[in-house]
Amino acid sequence: SQPLLQEGDDEAKAVDYHADAAKVDRAKSPKYAPGQTCANCSLYAPDGDKPSGGCGLFYGKDVLAKGWCNAWEKKA
Ligand code: SF4
Repeated sequence: SQPLLQEGDDEAKAVDYHADAAKVDRAKSPKYAPGQTCANCSLYAPDGDKPSGGCGLFYGKDVLAKGWCNAWEKKA
């Protein structure tokens, strides 16, 4: 596992990353739809049963499975 991406990191802000998808404000993040999380995003790379894993967007940092960002893509 790698250090966790923080909401305040520049690369996180660039894609509106939230550590908890349940707390996304749909008025401020219109791309968000309920049910979307890193865990069901095509860019997410799970790390076993851990609560965080890799994301194709962020080199060297992990994201939370329950997180979300506006680059979310439906897993094929
Ligand atoms: Fe999470 Fe997907 Fe955004 Fe990566 S691209 S932070 S896995 S929603």
